[in-house]
Amino acid sequence: MSHNNTSLNTLDKTHFLHPFTDFKEYKATDTAIYTKAEHIYIYDEAGKELIDGMSGLWCCNLGYSQPKINEAISNQLNSLPFYNSFFQCTTDVTVKMAKALVDISPAQFNHVFFTNSGSEANDTNIRLVHRYYDLLGKPSKKIFISRHGAYHGSTIAAGSLGGFSGMHKQYTGLSYVEHIGQPNWFTEGGDMDKAEFGIKVAQELAAKIDELGEENVAAFIAEPIQGAGGVIVPPETYWPEISRICKERDILLISDEVICGFGRTGDWFGAQTFGFEPDLMTFAKAVTNGYQPLGGVLVSDKVADVLSADGGEFTHGFTYSGHPAACAAGIATIDILKNDKVIENAAADIMPYFQAQLRTLESHPIVGEVRGMGMVAALEIAKNNSAKERLAPDCAGGAMVKTHAINHGLMVRSVGDAIVTAPPMVCNREEIDLLIARLTIALDYTAKHYG
Ligand code: PLP
Repeated sequence: MSHNNTSLNTLDKTHFLHPFTDFKEYKATDTAIYTKAEHIYIYDEAGKELIDGMSGLWCCNLGYSQPKINEAISNQLNSLPFYNSFFQCTTDVTVKMAKALVDISPAQFNHVFFTNSGSEANDTNIRLVHRYYDLLGKPSKKIFISRHGAYHGSTIAAGSLGGFSGMHKQYTGLSYVEHIGQPNWFTEGGDMDKAEFGIKVAQELAAKIDELGEENVAAFIAEPIQGAGGVIVPPETYWPEISRICKERDILLISDEVICGFGRTGDWFGAQTFGFEPDLMTFAKAVTNGYQPLGGVLVSDKVADVLSADGGEFTHGFTYSGHPAACAAGIATIDILKNDKVIENAAADIMPYFQAQLRTLESHPIVGEVRGMGMVAALEIAKNNSAKERLAPDCAGGAMVKTHAINHGLMVRSVGDAIVTAPPMVCNREEIDLLIARLTIALDYTAKHYG
């Protein structure tokens, strides 16, 4: 088939249905097509440079220039481009990657199940947990509890676990998923102080379990910091209370570390930052620095021992579970993070600097709250500085800040009225200053528009 107009933009509109995109709207606007990236910068077709304040899609924690990862992938493709892990075989790098993951994980984790993505990993959680309880002779324990506003992926199962009503409206979700509130103090805290609010929302879990019957509830799944939901950092009281409730009521606790894992919160995993001990952990994205698709579930001894004792065949897996090129990328990523002490160094310097500099924007007339931890943060766009009053209806304030930021060379994301940023951990202080300067320009333009 030949094309009269083969510009990428035209080809894109003609052939490509983008994920999470309004198909009608995108036909009427130009697509941003990126062709190159270096360090923390991305470049579009026309050569325009942007600071990538989103690390790709929260995955390039080490930025774009990591030749050791590229080399590991290419060497792997030259020696063994593919072999599978079904039945009784696997590849050398897949085994080594499982060991590398176990080595950096909290002590309770000694087993890994590989997938290609975070969504598949969360589907896998459901399979693992249902099998676990079946084997324990508790087959009625099937219900998963998650949170409104959570994002756990977009397969039917992972989307059901998530709490995005816009997604739920487009398909019939799983019948055995229930949602409770999210610890979003800015929008839902009312007159409560943060500590009190943290306990209150955590106790929704206890109330929900009691309502459904402990004998019917299998697990609670949540991100340590809710990322795509708008960087919801829970009050300090939240996770200890959630942990206590799960233990007290015999409910498995799943930490979805797809965004928080691999350094984002200043530790290897967000659960370590918040001091709780999950039974399962979902990972993806930054596990390969985003250079190869890889996800999976870290399975605690508590669960793995039951599955392997008399579990028989676990009838689940993907052709590319533990793909050797992805595992080679993962091993190289973990090596860099470990050998160069990237997480420790970032936690000691660039992360606190990033958080402190962002907080200088708290006094900006259209910033209601700055929240974040490690290398992930959000600014809540609001009227009158600290008032919880929206700047404009339909989250137009957040959308406008995002558009101006992109126009001025900074990629950020808007989630409702929250402006989200999660830059690579390899930024230096000057680059953080530049990010803040570009964000400030976007805030100023927006403030002037609504002034
Ligand atoms: N879980 C969380 C917390 C995520 O943020 C995401 C993606 O953004 C997923 C799961 C789904 O991962 P994937 O897009 O790789 O399927």
